Amino acid sequence: MVNSSKHPETIALHGGSYRKDNTTNSVAVPIYQTTSYQFNSQEHAANLFSLKELGNIYTRIMNPTTAVLEERIAQLEGGLAAVAVSSGQAASAFAVQNLCRAGDNIVSSTDLYGGTWNQFENTFKQLGIEVRFADPTDPDSFAKLSDEKTRGYYAETLPNPKLHVFPIEEVAAIGKKLGIPLIVDNTAAPITCKPIKHGAAVVVHSLTKWIGGHGTSIGGIIVDGGNFDWTQFPERQPLYNEPEPSYWDWVLGKVVPEVLGANVTFAVRARFVLLRDLGAALSPTNAFNIIQGLETLPLRFKQHQDNAEKVADYLSNKKGVTKVIHPKYQQGINKERAEKYLEDGSGPLVGFELSGGLDAGKKFIDNLQLLYHVANIGDARSLAIHPASTTHSQLNAEDQLRSGVTPGYIRLSVGIEHIDDILNDINQSLEKT
Ligand code: PLP
Repeated sequence: MVNSSKHPETIALHGGSYRKDNTTNSVAVPIYQTTSYQFNSQEHAANLFSLKELGNIYTRIMNPTTAVLEERIAQLEGGLAAVAVSSGQAASAFAVQNLCRAGDNIVSSTDLYGGTWNQFENTFKQLGIEVRFADPTDPDSFAKLSDEKTRGYYAETLPNPKLHVFPIEEVAAIGKKLGIPLIVDNTAAPITCKPIKHGAAVVVHSLTKWIGGHGTSIGGIIVDGGNFDWTQFPERQPLYNEPEPSYWDWVLGKVVPEVLGANVTFAVRARFVLLRDLGAALSPTNAFNIIQGLETLPLRFKQHQDNAEKVADYLSNKKGVTKVIHPKYQQGINKERAEKYLEDGSGPLVGFELSGGLDAGKKFIDNLQLLYHVANIGDARSLAIHPASTTHSQLNAEDQLRSGVTPGYIRLSVGIEHIDDILNDINQSLEKT
């Protein structure tokens, strides 16, 4: 039975087709720590390789533990299929490489996680894929930067440090008219934002963050919304409309929906071409660890968001804090977008600026006792960092400001501890700062 609930609390535990292990009746998802799978016959093997039948071939391409994770996340995001990969970085790389060959380009929002920025600006450039950076506050800038070689748009739902929610519907609509799919990194807004509902074609996550939730395992995932017509503008998407040399010259945009009866073409290409050839597979043990996190994500994420809002409220009245950065405290169009797209809580991240600038920022971090000082977000524990002296320290002052980092900016990934303990720690550290 496939559980068809629309409720995240139920999907996290029952989503997809897994009910029990068919051999042992195990309720918990087993870790299938295997590389390969015995074929029933030569014909069975041939059918699997030609996609006439779907089944396990080799763990670089698919695995039964990982499949449970993929089905649940696809359902949670309202997509048709998902492909898990070894990290969030691999998810963004594969999502773009699933559209672009050398000589092609994508248009991306400027407001990105630093690792994604580097991947786009430097590594993709070396591979011959150009990334053009657009102003996320102005949806039309995506259209202006597009040309006949533009294969995709890319953005994050809730990028830090600015925490300005991306105009998903507006940019997805621009892309749809041109045959350009929008990829959204929804890492910081699982459950509360559903990009596919707003027109995104593909969602990616770093599973390392809130979904895994305990700071134990690196992973990523690509969700195929199943809502994009890959064949409407054949010249726009050559990878889906020209013969695929590594699959008997199939035209994937036509053959995949015909053979599988569903528009899961993007996921199929990510799995059977990119995972097969580039190999960034998630380990079954990490898939299991991340499933443990996923099963309580709805409950935890509520507490993350509630605590984050309380921290933002607290800081908004605090002497020495000149600005609070949180969707609730934004103005104008940014506030409107936060209200439109964040439907079930305003996110787990809070930024704030200290009047004492760089020195105060460093001192605040050194005085923390409960909050961890790490370059991560999305752990169950509360985390803090001073971007100007760490994650953004390679940028000059002007570029730091452009990216939203002032000298006294502190980023908090608010955890699920009791709110009194989080506030007490922030308070005692501010008093010493
Ligand atoms: N996307 C976002 C928004 C992130 O914050 C991160 C990591 O911090 C990534 C992607 C990359 O994820 P991973 O560290 O799992 O490769």
